[in-house]
Amino acid sequence: CGIIGRVGDGNALEPLLTGLENLEYRGYDSAGVAVQNGSGINVEKRSGKVEELKDSIGEPLSGKVGIGHTRWSTHGPPTDENAHPHTDESEDVAVVHNGIIENYVELRERLAENGYEFTSDTDTEVIPHLIQYYLDEGLDSELAFRRAIDELEGSYAVTAMVSGEHVLYAARQGSPLVVGMEDGEYFLASDVPAFLEYTDSVIYLEDGDVVIVDEDGVEFTDLDGDPIVREPETVEWDP
Ligand code: GLU
Repeated sequence: CGIIGRVGDGNALEPLLTGLENLEYRGYDSAGVAVQNGSGINVEKRSGKVEELKDSIGEPLSGKVGIGHTRWSTHGPPTDENAHPHTDESEDVAVVHNGIIENYVELRERLAENGYEFTSDTDTEVIPHLIQYYLDEGLDSELAFRRAIDELEGSYAVTAMVSGEHVLYAARQGSPLVVGMEDGEYFLASDVPAFLEYTDSVIYLEDGDVVIVDEDGVEFTDLDGDPIVREPETVEWDP
């Protein structure tokens, strides 16, 4: 339902939680965040309100890069396990997703046959395992992300990160996603209000776009990796 991602200096947790609160108007049943400091990924997620998520984050998560999600369940009940972000078994890959993966049953069966273990009932969980599958095949993170996205059918806005990298990977097909840009700080969100406190300079993704965001900037490409030029615009928004 709601997606927020952030790359920059300083701690990502606060802009992520602010983003989730700003997205509350969309309605949701669960919330979660994943943050990484360059060596590993920490996930906190649960059913219920963002307020409850905040209360359950005991040790403050710290890291420059992170993703967050408010979930409106379509596949699997609103439990802690089904909340996003979803990860592979070793928490090397974390993913948030809006929309529905139509071919998730077939992908899940194939991945399970290859030894990938699932811990939720969601359609979304195939995505981190699929990325991990391609990483295990020896592909680099960007290519692994592209290959995984290429296999998805249905509608999605996806944002992913891989352990040890200060990078966010994002893609959209039929579900909105927008990049926000400030000096040295970048955001990805399902909707502009998520990051309006931080920036009003945005670029909307179009269907088929794959975006790679790190501290140095934003790279827009098509699914094959060919560059796309998109100009930033300034949003005017009366909250
Ligand atoms: N289909 C996914 C799920 O049920 C994502 C739902 C959403 O857009 O929040 O977890």
